[in-house]
Amino acid sequence: MLGARFLVMHVGSAPDESQGIQQMITGINQALDRVDNNVTLLLENTAGSGNELGYTFEQLARIIAGVRMKRRIGVVFDTAHAFEAGYDLRTQEKVRETFKSFNSIIGLERLKLVHFNDSKTKFASRSDRHWHIGKGEIGKGMAYIIQHPALKKLPFIMETPRTGLKEDLMNMRTVRRLLKK
Ligand SMILES: [Zn+2]
Repeated sequence: MLGARFLVMHVGSAPDESQGIQQMITGINQALDRVDNNVTLLLENTAGSGNELGYTFEQLARIIAGVRMKRRIGVVFDTAHAFEAGYDLRTQEKVRETFKSFNSIIGLERLKLVHFNDSKTKFASRSDRHWHIGKGEIGKGMAYIIQHPALKKLPFIMETPRTGLKEDLMNMRTVRRLLKK
């Protein structure tokens, strides 16, 4: 009804990984069966705090494998969540490795959107705290992410902390600078 192309969702939490993944598959299949439209459901990678699932590429791939309507399922890559979940993004080499691994486990053709956030928490902290672009623990790595050829044509959304437009403009200026480098 909104005319949206995508709907973003976290996959949810479960104490038991296999059981949780099975429940997610069942739920997604039910939802896609009941609603007949062209909206692609995008699963967002998570930081993996608590019992949260969807923090490894393997888990997302297992869920996608169980979804019957493959053309209606995709992935959104959140940079802060990936870093917090243990995918290093601080150097050009590590960024390349991460997307190479994404490609071999999930497939880059499933990647439809990037949530472009720096992380306030340390590498592999499994704690989800977004931070201003280039000022967090990913730091310089943010430039290598935005310049990665596989992501060039994708939409990016910033989910950085804000009290108003001021912080958004500051982060936007940083992003433009990173694109020019
Ligand atoms: Zn996000």
